[in-house]
Amino acid sequence: MSSVYPTRQPPAVAKAHVAPNDLPADADIPDNYIEYTLKKDKPLPPIQWANILNELNWLNVTVICVPPVIGAIGVCYTSLQWRTALFSVIYYFLTGVSMTAGYHRLWSHRSYNASKPLEYALALFGAGSVQGSIKWWARGHRAHHRYTDTDLDPYNAHKGFFYSHVGWMLVKPRRRDGVADVRDLTKNAIIKWQHRNYLVLMLFMAFVLPTLVAGLGWGDWRGGYVYAGVVRLVFVHHSTWSVNSLAHWLGEAPFDDKHTPRDHLITALATIGEGYHNFHHQFPMDYRNAIRWYQYDPTKWFIFSMQAVGLASHLKTFPDNEVKKGQLTMQLKKLREKQEGLVWPSDNNDLPVVSWESFLDQATKRPLIVVAGFIHDVSDFLDAHPGGRHFLTKTIGTDATTAFFGGVYEHSNAAHNLLAMKRVGVLHGGMPHGSEEKAIPPSQRLRIMRYNETGSPYTSSGSGLEQTDDEGGLMG
Ligand SMILES: [Zn+2]
Ligand SMILES: [Zn+2]
Repeated sequence: MSSVYPTRQPPAVAKAHVAPNDLPADADIPDNYIEYTLKKDKPLPPIQWANILNELNWLNVTVICVPPVIGAIGVCYTSLQWRTALFSVIYYFLTGVSMTAGYHRLWSHRSYNASKPLEYALALFGAGSVQGSIKWWARGHRAHHRYTDTDLDPYNAHKGFFYSHVGWMLVKPRRRDGVADVRDLTKNAIIKWQHRNYLVLMLFMAFVLPTLVAGLGWGDWRGGYVYAGVVRLVFVHHSTWSVNSLAHWLGEAPFDDKHTPRDHLITALATIGEGYHNFHHQFPMDYRNAIRWYQYDPTKWFIFSMQAVGLASHLKTFPDNEVKKGQLTMQLKKLREKQEGLVWPSDNNDLPVVSWESFLDQATKRPLIVVAGFIHDVSDFLDAHPGGRHFLTKTIGTDATTAFFGGVYEHSNAAHNLLAMKRVGVLHGGMPHGSEEKAIPPSQRLRIMRYNETGSPYTSSGSGLEQTDDEGGLMG
């Protein structure tokens, strides 16, 4: 690794305390690693019809494409017994959960601690899912989380649904996966054992064991092989791969929308509970993908049950307070979009400041009234006023603040919001101290503002303005 990146040594202190072969794989990467690597390492040429035969990964093509063909032929010539059907579903969940609770949440993310018997079981049934060894799988998955949606992400969702689902395995990788530290996995005896014996374990768990169970159990050797072996494998394959494709494409982003991961029930149903992928990418070390009890996450229930029987411990959860912050941020973002879709009253700074004398003068030419320091032109509302035209006409050329805020009638929030839309000027020195709240229409009291937006336009009210700028009739 170190020859590939610029020579930048890890801190001497860190180096002095670790054996050379125990240095993290990412110990000496540059700070601009993604940008640097994408620029420096040239990718293999794009896949085209002309080069596709040379660029295919034939081993993966065989592993991925042959089972569906054998399965389809086998189903046509093998009747399905109910015991075999039931066993196939159970075996689908056993091998599938070994991917989700084992390969994914335990080994890729260390979201809980598993006892040795549980680790062996997950490693064995995980091999029956025929998706490579734990070590290979988890390294790729850690790169996926670290470089999500970039070309260092092995199943970059920006390359399309098919590529992120299965295409990335069918061809030779266009570039090397981003670096990810897997020292914890290389030290794990069970992972080493699985990696060393992967081929034998895979063949036995994927095909031999299901055939034996159905054959010895109820005499259905062929059904065991076809349904619990091959067809079940095809389902497990596409279930796991849907986490990279469907879960980065379908649904909502309730926690963060910076990247492609999404939450959706359909994905959860297809992936044994990995469908709350937006949550997962935000909080990858959480043993849950679904945080609500009613959401479908059997993998979470499995891990929780393993804890209950003493086979798992130290289940990690992210602080609920921080989870809620993520949700609130996204909710506010949506509300902000709604807010920006509406028309709001003119900003203080856009309105002319008008003296009392000028106001009186101009009110003789058009229906102007003062409320809470603002001058309003009510010409298009005289006949629409629910209390009658006369109530408005008698306040023309006057300060109607007291009447509007309850002196005559306690106007509704809607009335206040509507009135604010008719602002045409700010009265110089027109708002008495302490009544600033009346200047802010109810619809704007909980306004959503970005951190870099300086205060409300109403924080500097008309009363604070020193100069009028309407002596020449700007307001008109
Ligand atoms: Zn993902
Ligand atoms: Zn993950």
